Amino acid sequence: MPMSDTYWGQFEEISKYNVSLNYAERLWMAWYSYMQNDVLATGIMSFVMHEAVYFGRSLPWIIIDCIPSMNKYKIQNHKIPTAKEQWQCAMLVLLSHFTVELPQIWLFHPMAQFFGLSTTVPFPSLLTMAYQIAIFFVLEDTWHYFSHRAMHEFPFLYKNIHKIHHQYSAPFGLAAEYASPIEVMLLGLGSVGSPILWCAITGDLHILTMYVWIVVRLFQAIDAHSGYEFPWSLHHFVPFWAGADHHDVHHEKFIGNYSSSFRWWDLLLDTENSPEALKRRREKKSMKVKKAA
Ligand SMILES: [Zn+2]
Ligand SMILES: [Zn+2]
Repeated sequence: MPMSDTYWGQFEEISKYNVSLNYAERLWMAWYSYMQNDVLATGIMSFVMHEAVYFGRSLPWIIIDCIPSMNKYKIQNHKIPTAKEQWQCAMLVLLSHFTVELPQIWLFHPMAQFFGLSTTVPFPSLLTMAYQIAIFFVLEDTWHYFSHRAMHEFPFLYKNIHKIHHQYSAPFGLAAEYASPIEVMLLGLGSVGSPILWCAITGDLHILTMYVWIVVRLFQAIDAHSGYEFPWSLHHFVPFWAGADHHDVHHEKFIGNYSSSFRWWDLLLDTENSPEALKRRREKKSMKVKKAA
């Protein structure tokens, strides 16, 4: 095999003629020119990235579950998932990744091309990526709040779609994508649809920004299901961040805390489920009773 037929051969070739590109950009360009098929190149990269991040990010939580001294940070600390439970969950998630998500990921490149996502180098600046991802977070959270709330408020949707995700009343990292295929598609629309909508309107989105967004969104979803609340958890510093503190209650009580990343929709529409929110509601009620008397 001549050197230029291998991935690193391509990389060297590209490095010779594109001195202005940084290392990551050259790796990226070599991948697309090595694959000679953009749909396949994007498909493989997306799928591998999704699996690596999903299981890679879940692993520390599996380890933490095995460390007794960490138990004091576990929110529902009498419910540690057993190895068997975690294994079964991982197998089901894996099965759904291969059967449900893989075909969708495959369709991603043609769709991205249709909406004009860029796959070329140079990459967008960090600032551009950061503000676009911030917008996707807000859009996804809004979509998640309303569709997730609908799945709880309409018994038909709950029974036929969302019930599977609620099998674990004390969630753990791996359970983030433990859900019906229809739910994966419905809620996934927020994660994939938000950037696509943005690109359709502005015409300015690089597929790398999309990847970084999916990675941080996976971290958010897995960490929210981790079941652990630390003194250094993000919501202590960013009060509107939801985190495990917010989503664990949702799994335990089945009611309230419907949003994914932020707390504002639950606050605004009075679906927050926390001791403070319950106290507020009780006070409001007694005020009303007093006024009526
Ligand atoms: Zn739910
Ligand atoms: Zn959940």
